[in-house]
Amino acid sequence: MRRKKSRQTFEHVEVVDAGAKGKSVGKAPDGRVIFLSNAVPGDVVDVMTTKKRKAYFEGVATNFHQRSAKRTDPQCEHFGVCGGCKWQHMAYEHQLFYKQKEVENNLQRIGGVELPETMSILGSEKQYFYRNKMEFSFSSSRWLTEQEINSEEEIVDRNALGFHIPGMWDKILDINKCHLQEDPSNAIRTAIRQFAVENGLSFFNPRTQEGLLRTLMLRTSSIGEVMVLIQFFEDNKEPRELLLTFLKEKFPEITSLLYVINQKQNDTIYDQDVVCFAGRDHIFEEMEGLKFKINAKSFYQTNSEQAYELYKVTRDFAGLTGQELVYDLYTGTGTIAQFISKKARKVIGVESIPEAISDAKNNALGNDISNVEFYVGDMKNVFTTEFIEQHGQPDVIITDPPRDGMHKQVVEQLLQVAAQRIVYVSCNSATQARDLALLDEKYQVIQVQPVDMFPQTHHVENVVLLEKRV
Ligand code: SAH
Repeated sequence: MRRKKSRQTFEHVEVVDAGAKGKSVGKAPDGRVIFLSNAVPGDVVDVMTTKKRKAYFEGVATNFHQRSAKRTDPQCEHFGVCGGCKWQHMAYEHQLFYKQKEVENNLQRIGGVELPETMSILGSEKQYFYRNKMEFSFSSSRWLTEQEINSEEEIVDRNALGFHIPGMWDKILDINKCHLQEDPSNAIRTAIRQFAVENGLSFFNPRTQEGLLRTLMLRTSSIGEVMVLIQFFEDNKEPRELLLTFLKEKFPEITSLLYVINQKQNDTIYDQDVVCFAGRDHIFEEMEGLKFKINAKSFYQTNSEQAYELYKVTRDFAGLTGQELVYDLYTGTGTIAQFISKKARKVIGVESIPEAISDAKNNALGNDISNVEFYVGDMKNVFTTEFIEQHGQPDVIITDPPRDGMHKQVVEQLLQVAAQRIVYVSCNSATQARDLALLDEKYQVIQVQPVDMFPQTHHVENVVLLEKRV
């Protein structure tokens, strides 16, 4: 009740910007910002607020007086309900404009350092079907659309195989066709759903923690390999094998057919045993002649084609001649390290996940690369003065930290080491900007290149070249 009372309406709000968490931005009459989920810059709308804070409102557009020329038709039937691709209603060129702007704003406002002109963002050739990995959840309690609820018809099938409704841990939107991963992704998912329903295999009930089928992960690679992993809750051999055998026969293109039996509360597979039912326990991805082995738990950039663009920028910025000792911090499975290895004397990769480092070593071996070395551990504990003494003073440091950016101690160590160049790859330009401010003491920003890895979302990757001040 209280919530309803505090709702406000504003008329004729002009939508002027987009960015923050995929929302667009208008202004209330009192000057406060309103974040809107269903509007595009250029729209003129009436707004109903859904949240009120000191500095801003959140709201939805309830009536459109003017529709922006920046709009385009969303491709996906699930747009607006599914939380996945919030920007499908904005033409791609404008998505790129706002991503670039977000990077520039963050670097200027949070970084506050001297900046060169930002290079034009590298857009993704594929604007849909660009992901190589998708995860779906099974649920016996499907999210019902308003239409379904209001209709007289009895709802027979309550099962869902799809995505979590944003903010609802137990509600899954049943997905008919997802525009993020190429086929056979949709074909496999819909076939599994249909087979399960027809054969009475139960979908997981997150409230009572019952049911056979829990999650589905699909990985595809640019050389046509396919991995399917089904996570079961109940350990029931007969229906499990029925489903897996069906998949094996119906989709001979599956390279790796895996399953997990997980009866924990949470559905992460990272601490679970993965069983190979048919084919290999891994698939391969290829980039510039390098092969990368990917198993169920491996990290690999989710947009392979744009990862290639990102890595090329990184390699260019590193300015290698073949003589350099390069450190690749947060190396993951060592993809950047291997990608640049031909142009460097030696590359040293550091990463906290032991399995990733073991993948990195195996891949380097398989790729016949002998001038890379990998070390495992928390960056602030591994990347120390003793480590540098042992492995040598780097000429170039590449760093690609997670969303939170680098630990302060790591930044301090970078200042201490004072390599000639740092290439900073980031998926969060706000934390990157914070780190650049700290590095400003010794480093000047020479180049800024945003790269779009995730069309239809507000996410943007950014590569910055730093050079030691003279
Ligand atoms: N450069 C890689 C992966 C970057 S993702 C690629 O392009 O594929 C960031 C990586 O940082 C992840 O692999 C994550 O496991 C690792 N990481 C996160 N926190 C870390 C820490 N404190 N110390 C070392 N590595 C960390």
